[in-house]
Amino acid sequence: RGNSRNGAIICHLNPRLFQYGIVLDAGSSHTSMYIYKWPADKQNGTGIVTQHDECDVKGPGISSYAGLPGRAAKSLEECLQTAVRSVPKARHSKTPLYLGATAGMRLKANASESQRVLKEVGAKLKSYPFSFKGSVILSGQEEGAYGWVTVNYLLENFAKYGFVGRWLNPGKGAIGALDLGGASTQITFQTDVRAESTDTSMNLTLYGQNYQLYTHSFLCYGQDQFLRRLLAHLINCVPSLLPPNFTTSVILGKDVFSSSCTEEYKTKNIDLQKRVTLVGTGHPQNCLAAVQKMFSFDKCNFSKCSFDGIYQPAASGKFMAFSAFYFSSSYVKALTNISDPRRMKEASQRVCDMSITEVRQNRGCGGYNVCAVANFIQVLLRQGYGFNDSTLPMISFERKAGGASVGWSLGYMLSLTSHLPKESVSVLKAIPS
Ligand code: AMP
Repeated sequence: RGNSRNGAIICHLNPRLFQYGIVLDAGSSHTSMYIYKWPADKQNGTGIVTQHDECDVKGPGISSYAGLPGRAAKSLEECLQTAVRSVPKARHSKTPLYLGATAGMRLKANASESQRVLKEVGAKLKSYPFSFKGSVILSGQEEGAYGWVTVNYLLENFAKYGFVGRWLNPGKGAIGALDLGGASTQITFQTDVRAESTDTSMNLTLYGQNYQLYTHSFLCYGQDQFLRRLLAHLINCVPSLLPPNFTTSVILGKDVFSSSCTEEYKTKNIDLQKRVTLVGTGHPQNCLAAVQKMFSFDKCNFSKCSFDGIYQPAASGKFMAFSAFYFSSSYVKALTNISDPRRMKEASQRVCDMSITEVRQNRGCGGYNVCAVANFIQVLLRQGYGFNDSTLPMISFERKAGGASVGWSLGYMLSLTSHLPKESVSVLKAIPS
């Protein structure tokens, strides 16, 4: 290395000089595989790890394969083959491989069946030539904290390792993370306010800096589970959520009441086999009112709450919103040309007024749920998390940053492969401050 005229170029191209790490993000609706790489001779330092490749597993999330032995493991094969080709062979055995499952698995009432699914996928992952490090279910706090680490790592907000041999504070403030998955949503940000609840508080030391984080994960407030709850709540008067005259049908036991998120709405004599036809009216005000009813804003045993009695200090500073926050905002923007988050209410009203043909004019525009989702996000951010006209513009909606997908997986790998300095291991334990 380095003795040719083109040393620098060879250095970049020679795969032996890179190390790789693979994370499978087993979400509620789907699994994504991310391959990261970093120069083999640089262990620490922010901005060094980059995304090398990614693969979307075909089919639903692994939690959907409960009761179907073998299917979850089989679904991962194609992407694992991609990984075998993508990571240079000489590096296979040195490449850590992780699988983290999130709220889809946290929701599974049948704990032994989710353990069976995890064991099954673990055995599959072990059969590949990588260094398998385990398949686990992340807690909501871990999911929030790792998402926050990812965002700030990608934006190079953590300190850099200076030539003087110590971590230098780059002087950039950390930004908050808003993650909207299918089954849960997470809010994580740095705060100086003394925590009133240990459940939502976490101390991290990264690159010699101490960060006091506020983090909370709301189970059943992920996009898909929220819609399911909304449907369960409104099963008799759902039309306002749908575009006018649009008709669809649901089977109660399969599409509505098959989740623990809707358990509380299940009436005694309900016929789960029943197919219910829904005809849309697209009434924006009714939809908004129905969405608001899904949150509880009245009880709070702290000086401040977001909703459902959960403590939250004022959300301050910049935020990055990702996953379904990004998808939904980009669809609403494509449909209405409105991208200013302060005008979310107006944008939601506009999409609610659209016919199904208009909603579908942009390919893949989220379909007939776009009115309900737009209202949900608007209520969650404003009334839920307390963003207002001066703080909403501080949120940027992103899918990628610095060439990598934004989610918890990079933060997870960084923490587990000791790319973050030793002190940061507290991130794994969510140490209450
Ligand atoms: P999870 O599977 O828990 O990570 O949740 C991801 C959420 O994002 C689900 O609600 C998906 O429906 C949604 N989602 C994922 N990909 C897309 C996409 N390309 N367009 C719209 N929504 C998406």
